[in-house]
Amino acid sequence: MSLRPILLHPDPRLKAVAKPVTVFDDALRRLAHDMLDTMYDAPGIGLAAPQVGVLSRMIVMDCVKEEGETPRPMVLVNPEVVWTSEEKAPYEEGCLSIPEHFAEVTRPREVEVVWTDLDGQAHQGRFDGLWAVCVQHEIDHLDGTLFIDYLGPIKRGVITRKMEKLKRDLAREKPAPKGREAERL
Ligand SMILES: [Zn+2]
Repeated sequence: MSLRPILLHPDPRLKAVAKPVTVFDDALRRLAHDMLDTMYDAPGIGLAAPQVGVLSRMIVMDCVKEEGETPRPMVLVNPEVVWTSEEKAPYEEGCLSIPEHFAEVTRPREVEVVWTDLDGQAHQGRFDGLWAVCVQHEIDHLDGTLFIDYLGPIKRGVITRKMEKLKRDLAREKPAPKGREAERL
């Protein structure tokens, strides 16, 4: 099991458009498994590759939240929404890159998505409920869109300033880098 650090907003890599995956190799498989480990460890229900600093179009999800239920990890490579329901639904969203902040976002209640698996095989599926929220949120990450981009500029600004402060505080708490002894010589 290998955990990868999750980037925190604001970070230019979270605003970038990720590139399509064209090579289906062991490195891609390793990244997918690391992303699932990182997501479960957080814990979260979805994670997109840009959140671990890899600008490739891949997301992982598992929206089975009830304890005791069988996990349903999903890896979607090059996912694309091909249909959305006219009916929309609000949901209080959060994001592993914007911890402790939540806001209501309204999205299509159901979506049809095409993607490929880690072997490059094509799949198509319909998502509803929490899965629909999650898959849309994660695909947004591949285009550099965060859930706070759906909020008004004032609310978005408040969250971004709080995140900037959190990142400064975290940077300050960081233990001294190794090799400090050498510097004292
Ligand atoms: Zn997110």
